[in-house]
Amino acid sequence: MSQNIDALARANVRALTPYQSARRLGGNGDVWLNANEFPLPVPFELSQQTLNRYPECQPKRVIERYAAYAGLTPEQVLVSRGADEGIELLMRAFCEPGEDAILFCPPTYGMYSVSAETIGIEYRTVPARDNWQLNLPAIAAQLDGVKVVYLCSPNNPTGNLINPDDIRTLLNMTAGKALLVADEAYIEFCPQATLAGWLKDYPHLVILRTLSKAFALAGLRCGFTLANKPVIDLLMKVIAPYPLATPVADVAGQALSEEGIVLMREHVRELNANRAWLLEQLPQLAVVQQVFPSETNYILARFSDSPKVFKTLWDQGIILRDQNKNPGLEGCLRISIGTRTECERLIAALQALSVEQA
Ligand SMILES: *Cc1c(COP(=O)(O)O)cnc(C)c1O
Repeated sequence: MSQNIDALARANVRALTPYQSARRLGGNGDVWLNANEFPLPVPFELSQQTLNRYPECQPKRVIERYAAYAGLTPEQVLVSRGADEGIELLMRAFCEPGEDAILFCPPTYGMYSVSAETIGIEYRTVPARDNWQLNLPAIAAQLDGVKVVYLCSPNNPTGNLINPDDIRTLLNMTAGKALLVADEAYIEFCPQATLAGWLKDYPHLVILRTLSKAFALAGLRCGFTLANKPVIDLLMKVIAPYPLATPVADVAGQALSEEGIVLMREHVRELNANRAWLLEQLPQLAVVQQVFPSETNYILARFSDSPKVFKTLWDQGIILRDQNKNPGLEGCLRISIGTRTECERLIAALQALSVEQA
């Protein structure tokens, strides 16, 4: 019965390190500040009782409501199983394995490389500058053979927006050669910064959105790709026939109703207020070396002994996201903004550590 099943697998899959999602990393917490989720559940009721039927591939109500919300037309919107599926669909539609490459600028979101490795597409990295803005000359020197450039703005895990003038320069640089994908997973926390209004000028611009963060629906698995029709038409060729389960489309439609959007904006105001409070508190603590500004529902901070801080809080059930191994982020932890009570528990725990250190 001994068979080496591993030897049957594709070499790149054998070599693959899967995405270290917060859920996979586990932990036994009651204060979850490690996945940039909204801290409280939002109640929904299912209204569709048609599970005997296959769902619509692109549910009309969801597409129309998202288009209205984003200020676009329905033909500029594709809905998928989270923004993560959008990241991968773009590679599958535009990159020839073994020939074409993608490019991104670390430190940034981890799924661009994981998807590329899974499909067998080369990925090139051009590290961001010290201020986490784009290194445009270095990108220009690496663009040969690149079909898709992924930018994350505001960037996960650093929290900053990418300078729009630089994005425009990069759009001009990539015109006719590559897609430029702006991952706007956190745009609801700084809506004025969206590039959605630029789609009319740039046929190769693509924007990724999600219901997982500000809309408080990470468990729903629903995301959006915004682009002009020729791009959407190509993605429609490679998407699964039924990417969204009927209950997912049902809830997404409700979340995108007028009341749903009002509720999301209230939640954003609450979290932004909690973020302002944390940005005031964190720099006063002896264990905190540096706090980075944030346009999002998380804060990146550098600590004098981050492994100790991470472990001590973990043991108290406060789970943060370790960024220590991420190039350029030595000593950094990422903290999702929770409820005010959760923020207060975090600060109290860090205060105790600071007293100990002093
Ligand atoms: C959370 C996140 C996503 C994934 O969104 P899903 O819709 O949950 O798949 C994509 N990009 C970034 C930058 C994220 O932080």
